[in-house]
Amino acid sequence: MPTAAGERSRIKASVDFEREGRQLGYLTVPWSRNDSAWGSLRVPIAVIRNGSGPTVVFTAGNHGDEYEGQIALHKLARSLDPGDVSGRVIIIPALNLPAVQAGTRVSPVDGGNMNRIFPGARSGTLTPMIAHYVHTEILPLADVVVDLHSGGKTLQFVPCAVMHQLEDAALMRRTMDALLAFGAPLGLVLLELDNQGMLDTAVEEMGRVFISTELGGGGTVTAETVAVAERGVRNLLRHFGLLAPGDTGEPAPAERTRLMHTPADDCFVAAGDAGLYEPLVDLGAEVEAGMAIGSIHAFEHPDREPLLHRAGRSGKLICRHFPGLVQSGDCVAVVAADYDAA
Ligand code: CA
Repeated sequence: MPTAAGERSRIKASVDFEREGRQLGYLTVPWSRNDSAWGSLRVPIAVIRNGSGPTVVFTAGNHGDEYEGQIALHKLARSLDPGDVSGRVIIIPALNLPAVQAGTRVSPVDGGNMNRIFPGARSGTLTPMIAHYVHTEILPLADVVVDLHSGGKTLQFVPCAVMHQLEDAALMRRTMDALLAFGAPLGLVLLELDNQGMLDTAVEEMGRVFISTELGGGGTVTAETVAVAERGVRNLLRHFGLLAPGDTGEPAPAERTRLMHTPADDCFVAAGDAGLYEPLVDLGAEVEAGMAIGSIHAFEHPDREPLLHRAGRSGKLICRHFPGLVQSGDCVAVVAADYDAA
């Protein structure tokens, strides 16, 4: 919570987080600029509250070019009947709105990557100002935070729900139960290459359950990846008791999820050069350690042999670089191994 009145966010919400029923409104971010002297950015927000129960916060559009979560949350905000809810659901479907408007990962206004900027800054530009609002005004309300990501324009994933390996064993257990309840084809315990400034880390440090996803990518969606997102958010609301169990007509979500992890840096394959990327195996393939999984052709050097890239360990290819061109250092592949939860 803010420690002094002067540190309260400059962002104002048109919704009342304590009111019962459905409210669709805005977070008004002050944004004075050349083409709008007293202007603002209006970030959509929905609050659906009824009776007593936990608070679940859903966010999407943290990265603007990731769409399954945005679509699923717009549909959830409109369709969730407050009368069916026990607790409070807070939905922010376009967290980094300028990035969403532009269809880009980071904000075109200030270059801000929302998931590298937490806890944000009260007096920052738009991206850190929004992060600061979430950190000081939204997270203290939350029992559970679900931030829906996909691969964006440059990566493509086998649809997975994601958590991190956590020090706190009780929080780890509660988070893994939620991960399995989401019901994605894969449940991934992810090692982050760089967790500095992530919303994930901010929530985990508060001791709350945090679930993310990587649902697809390539800057688009499929009917199936949107369906995974829609089922997943409702499965989580059932899991945490905000919706009655009901009969979904499907197997228990946990039975549909293969639990995997990326325990070390050798799960991640980075491009050794710029060029044309040729995948030698496709997304979802089972691979062996040392197997050639892709090669990079030097478009300016037809005399050169392509640069082979190999899997660092055995497992499943859960992520690939999406565009045909790669730059040196791009993540071209991620191989995950089966995870033994026992
Ligand atoms: Ca992302």
